[in-house]
Amino acid sequence: MEHMKTPLPNLNLGNVDFPVRTPRLDQPQGRKYYRLLVVDDDQRHRESLRDLISLAGFQAAMAGSGHDALEMLNQEHYDLMLLDLRMPEIDGHQILDHIKSHGLDTGVIIVSGEPSWDEATRTLRRGADDFIRKPYAPDEVIAAIENSLKKRRLEQENRRIQEQLRMSEKLHRFIVNNSPDLIYILDQNGHFRFLNQRVESLLGHNKKDLLNKHYSELLFDADQKDLLHMFDERRTGERATRNLELRLKRKVGESENGPEYVPITMELSSMGVYSHLEGKEKQFIGTYGVARDITERKKAEDMINFQAYHDLLTGLPNRALFKDRLGLAIRQAARDKTRLAVMFLDLDRFKLVNDTLGHTCGDLLLQSVANRIQSTIRKVDTLSRIGGDEFTLLLPKINHEKDAALIADKIVAALKPPFLIEEHELYVRASIGIALYPEHGSEIDTLIKRADMAMYEVKSKGRDGYVFYSDQLDTKYANRLYMESSMRRALSEDQFVVHYQPMVRLDDGSPTSLEALIRWNHPEKGMVDPGEFIACAEENGMIIPIGRWVLKQVLSDLSKWRQQGLPFGTVAVNISASQLEHPEFLNMLVELLETYKVPGSCLELEITENVIMKDMEAAVAQLKKLARYGVKFAIDDFGTGYSSLSYLKSLPINTLKMDQSFVDEITEDIEEESIVSAIAAMARGLHLKLVAEGVEKEIQANYLRSIGCDQAQGFLYSTPMDFSRTTSYLSSNR
Ligand code: C2E
Ligand code: MG
Ligand code: MG
Repeated sequence: MEHMKTPLPNLNLGNVDFPVRTPRLDQPQGRKYYRLLVVDDDQRHRESLRDLISLAGFQAAMAGSGHDALEMLNQEHYDLMLLDLRMPEIDGHQILDHIKSHGLDTGVIIVSGEPSWDEATRTLRRGADDFIRKPYAPDEVIAAIENSLKKRRLEQENRRIQEQLRMSEKLHRFIVNNSPDLIYILDQNGHFRFLNQRVESLLGHNKKDLLNKHYSELLFDADQKDLLHMFDERRTGERATRNLELRLKRKVGESENGPEYVPITMELSSMGVYSHLEGKEKQFIGTYGVARDITERKKAEDMINFQAYHDLLTGLPNRALFKDRLGLAIRQAARDKTRLAVMFLDLDRFKLVNDTLGHTCGDLLLQSVANRIQSTIRKVDTLSRIGGDEFTLLLPKINHEKDAALIADKIVAALKPPFLIEEHELYVRASIGIALYPEHGSEIDTLIKRADMAMYEVKSKGRDGYVFYSDQLDTKYANRLYMESSMRRALSEDQFVVHYQPMVRLDDGSPTSLEALIRWNHPEKGMVDPGEFIACAEENGMIIPIGRWVLKQVLSDLSKWRQQGLPFGTVAVNISASQLEHPEFLNMLVELLETYKVPGSCLELEITENVIMKDMEAAVAQLKKLARYGVKFAIDDFGTGYSSLSYLKSLPINTLKMDQSFVDEITEDIEEESIVSAIAAMARGLHLKLVAEGVEKEIQANYLRSIGCDQAQGFLYSTPMDFSRTTSYLSSNR
C-alpha cells in the first residue's frame, strides 16, 4: 500500500521548550521565584533599592556597572532589571539595546534621576516596561515591578499557547497529509476548499489546481449525471455520514488531446457541515469528507465474484450466472416478443474417460469440449458448465425452431472429430435437449428442466443428437423420477424378491437348472412383474444396485441349498447391458462369489443379443474375464436380435435360449422346415445347449423333442416359485 511508504517528516515535537507555568505574584513563595537585577553605579542607590525589593519578597542581585550587568545577563536569566540610565562607559541605553538585540527575555524598569520626558519615551521605545524617576516612592517601585512581571507572565503564557497551537496544527497537518485517504472540504457550492496532500499521489492531480474547483472536475463525464445527484444528496443531506462508492479520475499522463485519466474506485464518506450560530437557524456551509482507495478491495471482490459465478475449470459461467442471464434474456424476449432457446447438453461416455484415464485427462477433455462448443456459437449466446459433463446453452434472439436445430447440429458435428488428449484419441458424443421460450415455458427453472428432460430422451434412445421438448416427455419424466425414488425405497425396505423357475430336460422332464426372476412385492400394487419396472430401472440407472441385490440374493439362496446338499444344477441370472458395462461388475461378482463361497460354475448369466451387439469388443472382453471364474453364459431371447453366427462362435457361450415367440408358433400344423427347427440345427452345429422358453403345451414339448431341442422352461413344467417352494421342489427331486 502506498501510504506505508510515506516517510515520516521531521516533526521534532520533543524540541519545543514550553516554559513552566510562572508562579503568581500574590503569594510570598511566588515572589521568591523571580530573579531581579538592580543595576546602578551608585552603591547607595543600588543597595537601598535592593533592600526595598527584598522587603517586598523578591530576590535581587546587583551590578555596579554596565559591564557587570552585561556579564551577569550573559551568565544567568533575570526576569526583571531595575536599570539606572546614567553610568560611565556602558550606560542604560546600551544595556537596553543589548537585551533587545540578544532577544533576552528580561523586563526592564528604568530608575533614573533624569527628569527629561524625551529620555523617558526614548527608553520606553527601546523596550523598557516602565520609567521611575528618582527619588521614588517605594510603593511606586513595587507596583511597577509587579506590573512588569505580570505583563511578562501574560506574554509568556500567550507565547506558550501560540506555540502549542502551532504544534498541534503541525501535527494535524501531518496526520491529514499522511493519511492513506483523501481528505477534503467542500464549500456550500461544492468547490474544494481544502484537500490533503494525498490527492497528488492518489489521483495525480495538483492540489493547487483543484482548490476552488467544483468536485465534478474529478468525475468522468459518463458518471456525472448519476453521481451528481447521489453525491449532492449525500453531501448536503441531513443524514449525517453516508458512504458512497464511486469512480474518480486519476490523471496518468498528458497527451496532445489533454490530460489522460483512468478510473480509480473510491469509497467516500462525507458529512454535511452546518453553522451553529446562536440565535440563527442552522445553515449548510459545506462538506467534510474522506475518500478511500478501494481498488485492491474491489479486485479481491471481483475475484471472489468471478469464482462465485464461474466454473474454474473451463472459465465458463456456472449455473448461478447462467440462470441470471437466462432471467434477463427471458425478460428481454418478453418485451421484444421474440423467442429464445435453452439447450441442455450432456456428454456421452465422459464418465468412462474419467474412470479409465483419470481426472486430469477428463479435465482436459472438458476444456477442449468447452472450446469447441464455444467456437460454434455466437457472442450473444451463453455457454455454461453446470456440473460434471453437463453444459447449458442460452441462445437469445432465436427466430425459429430451426435456428436452434441448426446450432445443435453444428455442436454435434463439432464434437464428432476425435479429441487428442495426452496421446489418447477420444471420441465424445453429445446428447442435446432443447426447450424454447415461450412455447415450452416462461420460467428459468422450467426451461432448464425441460431442456434436461429432452436431453434425457436423447440419451434413453441410446444415440447422440438433439430432441426438442414436448408435453409427452413431462409425464414420462415425472414418472421416471417417481419410479427412481420408489425403487430406492424398495431396495431399502426389502420389497424385492427372487423367484425361481426350473429348466428341465425334454427327454425325461428332470430339472437341470433354475432361472432367477425378480419380482417387486409392492406395498400398494402387490406382486409386480419385472416387465413393468426393469426397463425403467435400466433407464434411470437403478438397475445397477437392483442387479447387485439380485446376485447377492441368488448367491445367498444358493449357498443355503448347497449346505443342504440340494441339487440345483446351475442358477441362471438375467443381466442387463449397463450391468455388464459397469466397470465394477467383475469385481463385484467375484467378491460376492467369495463371500458366499459359491464356485462361479454354479452361475449362468443370461444376456440378450443386443447387449453383445452394442459394443462387441468390450462385451467379449468382459465375458472372457468372467469365464475365467467358471461363470457360464446364455443368450436370452435368442432369435429376436441381430446376432450373427460368426461371432457367436468366438464367445464363451454355453446356452441359447430360444425366445418364447418361436415356441408360440408351434401348433399342430407346424411345418417340418420351421424356423424353430432351423434354430435347433444351428445350436447343434455350434455345440450349444438349446433351451426353449415359455413352453406351455404338451404338443410344443413333443415337437421340440422331435427336432432335438435339449431343454425347456415353461408353465407346462413349473411357474416361477418363491424360495421356500423352490427348496421343497429341489428336495422332492433329489
Ligand atoms: P426372460 O429372461 O426371458 O424370462 C422369462 C420370462 O418368461 C419370465 O417372465 C417368466 O416368468 C416367463 N415365463 C416362463 N414360462 C412361461 C410360460 O410358459 N408362458 C409365459 N407366458 N411366460 C413364461 P418374468 O419373470 O416376468 O420376466 C420378464 C423378463 O424380465 C425376463 O425375461 C428378463 O428379461 C427380465 N428379468 C427378470 N428378472 C430379471 C433380473 O433379475 N434382472 C434383469 N436384468 N432382468 C430380469
Ligand atoms: Mg432370462
Ligand atoms: Mg427370455
